[in-house]
Amino acid sequence: MASGGIVHLVGAGPGDPGLITVRGARLLRRADVIVYDRLVNPSLLAEARPDAEMVDVGKPPSRGGEHLQEEINELLIERARGGARVLRLKGGDPFLFGRGGEEAAALAEAGVSFDVVPGVTSALAGPAYAGIPATDRNLASAVRIYTGQQSRNPQPLSPTNQTSIVLMGVRTLANTVRAMLMAGWPEDTPAAVIEQATTSRQRTTTATLETIVGASAEVGIRPPAIFICGNVVGLRDSIGWLEKKPLFGHRLMVLRGETRAAELITLLDDAGAEVVHVPAVAFDGAEDWTEPDSAIERLVGFQVIAFTSVNGVDFFMSRLLDSGRDARSLAAARIAAIGPATAAALNRHGLNADLVPGRFTTGALADAIASESEQGDTVLLPRGNLADDALPAALREHGLEPTPIVVYRTLPGPSLAERAKAAMERGIDAVLLTSPSTARNLVEALGDDRSLLDGIPVISAGPTTSRGAENVGLRVAQEATEHTADGLVDAALAWAGSN
Ligand code: SAH
Repeated sequence: MASGGIVHLVGAGPGDPGLITVRGARLLRRADVIVYDRLVNPSLLAEARPDAEMVDVGKPPSRGGEHLQEEINELLIERARGGARVLRLKGGDPFLFGRGGEEAAALAEAGVSFDVVPGVTSALAGPAYAGIPATDRNLASAVRIYTGQQSRNPQPLSPTNQTSIVLMGVRTLANTVRAMLMAGWPEDTPAAVIEQATTSRQRTTTATLETIVGASAEVGIRPPAIFICGNVVGLRDSIGWLEKKPLFGHRLMVLRGETRAAELITLLDDAGAEVVHVPAVAFDGAEDWTEPDSAIERLVGFQVIAFTSVNGVDFFMSRLLDSGRDARSLAAARIAAIGPATAAALNRHGLNADLVPGRFTTGALADAIASESEQGDTVLLPRGNLADDALPAALREHGLEPTPIVVYRTLPGPSLAERAKAAMERGIDAVLLTSPSTARNLVEALGDDRSLLDGIPVISAGPTTSRGAENVGLRVAQEATEHTADGLVDAALAWAGSN
């Protein structure tokens, strides 16, 4: 028996990274070794630990031989015996045409611990994303899922009240259709081919059993695709939903810090976009705390404390707590926040901003502070290492005395270059940028491969971000009018509407 090692045979779902199970995702984040297939979405792989060993065993179907499968089995056994927590990640469900059963048998025979995490199969999720339920009380009371690989093709079911779903069937579609017609399926039975199901590239071709081969040839269908036939296919006309979403068909790369992306991704997802999240920046506390600590010791000396970012709030407050103080030490000062996100961050620390300007710009913030201050008032500005002199300069012009302190640093995100390259190789329709530093980090990380970005439009969170993007040679196609997640989604919608 292996010493501590284990293999989890996990279904990755059909393509949409949101369709992995909760248990699968949890194991993915913990695994030491990840052995994955061709159909697994790279966005899922980005969830792995940065130091996890990643093994791509994707085999083009033409080359998939017994030999390779044996090598995979050996790899799983060997790593598990070495004590590793191994995740064997397979497209869809591991036990449906995924050879997961064979791998489990090999592990059992070798005495290696393993378990199985079923997945959402493309056979059912693909039709669901195309608006086709596999069964219906009036139209289909049975479903057969079978492989289109000819040698194993079974006799088609008798046609009454059935749904027929064929995987791996692009090449043999004409044969499958002929066999079904011979088995008595009516020529006018609704039929559909769904390619790249549950992704932004999903394409559904509908016809009848008689015309589906011609229709498929006409649009040039390519694997991976699902062939589905039966009266349920007709329901797509009324319940098709994915294509109606405003951002459907767009694969958007979101470059944003790990901690801040969740809201934006949820909104984009709701709008039907396929989101590839590449954390472009990471944040860490200041390198040198001398100035912040001295400011914290004389907080009563500041009339105003102005925050210009969520990170500024979070890192300042945690340093304040670490020093043995708490929010009460801010009682004497007026607190300003540049916008609603920063104000919400203050709320989380039990503070209400006294001032939030109507527009989220440094100029507006300086004006708002000045209008409620007296000449010579002191303003503490906790911020990041990349902040420029615009706000202090504007405050000085108003006759105020700003004290900028650096409480956090912006660093490049983990494996930024590899993740961005993997995303762009699959095809990205637009890049969403939320700060000038993300633009710069991306271009610097790509280095000689920066030409991969050529021609990819940028959707930017605001004028400062746009300038930063253009400075490093990117093309801004759309700019948000409001520097919030909603504002950025509106900009994406406007961009999609004009494309
Ligand atoms: N275990 C997988 C199936 C593996 S067989 C599952 O449960 O989904 C590979 C076949 O699955 C492909 O030839 C294709 O028919 C189908 N398939 C997998 N993902 C697909 C997708 N995103 N869109 C369309 N078909 C898909």
